[in-house]
Amino acid sequence: MEFTPETMAANAAAVQARIEAACAKCGRDPSEVHLLWVSKTKPIEAVRAAYAAGARDFGENRVQELVEKFSDPLPGVVRHLIGPLQSNKARKAAACADVIHSVASLDLVRRLDQLAEEENRTLRLLFQVNCSGEGTKSGLAPEEVEPFLRALPETPRLLYSGLMTIGPNTGNPEDARLPFRRLRAWRDAFLGSDGRFARFSELSMGMSEDLEVAIEEGATWVRVGTALFGARDYGAPATKE
Ligand SMILES: *Cc1c(COP(=O)(O)O)cnc(C)c1O
Repeated sequence: MEFTPETMAANAAAVQARIEAACAKCGRDPSEVHLLWVSKTKPIEAVRAAYAAGARDFGENRVQELVEKFSDPLPGVVRHLIGPLQSNKARKAAACADVIHSVASLDLVRRLDQLAEEENRTLRLLFQVNCSGEGTKSGLAPEEVEPFLRALPETPRLLYSGLMTIGPNTGNPEDARLPFRRLRAWRDAFLGSDGRFARFSELSMGMSEDLEVAIEEGATWVRVGTALFGARDYGAPATKE
């Protein structure tokens, strides 16, 4: 794919039309659904073209890639880390990410709190749940969610924004419906339950394949890569883990 502002704007319009159709189907206001541009594995030219087409929220899977592309972000850019975060990369993440969608351990929460203090930053956190129970996915197991949330420290440096999940990768978007519904039930149960959860409103769920189902089940962030930037080439050396 050629990364020009025109192609990016056309792809975004197609995705936005899907978002609006899904909202119309379930009576939601499309302004409640935010589009996260997942630029992982894509070159900086893709980011620039997307930015020129109006993109401001960008998602990366790997801390190193986030740092490479976004340590000096264009004005107004919000940087989202959506991939698993190891504690040895936490400092870089705390310095470079604005929102982290993939937090799933209390040790990491405490570490990020300390680092945010040192970096004099506020971080928005979402907690990843492995709703489908697939062994290959990271995140809290369903039975861990409530004890984990109850144990979160109260701190001015971290804003607990909501929950994230990745739908099961079965090829049938309907298979994501119950996992997404479950995520929403936890969000509903905790939102406003005490001061820590005063703004616990976000549901980060839905990707290129299953964003309609996610919106019907309440997504406030859809994380879209392929439908905006084209297929990813995992053979490229720059993307090797
Ligand atoms: C890659 C990725 C996405 C985007 O997936 P697409 O199917 O390309 O839209 C969304 N969320 C996470 C966590 C990802 O790793």
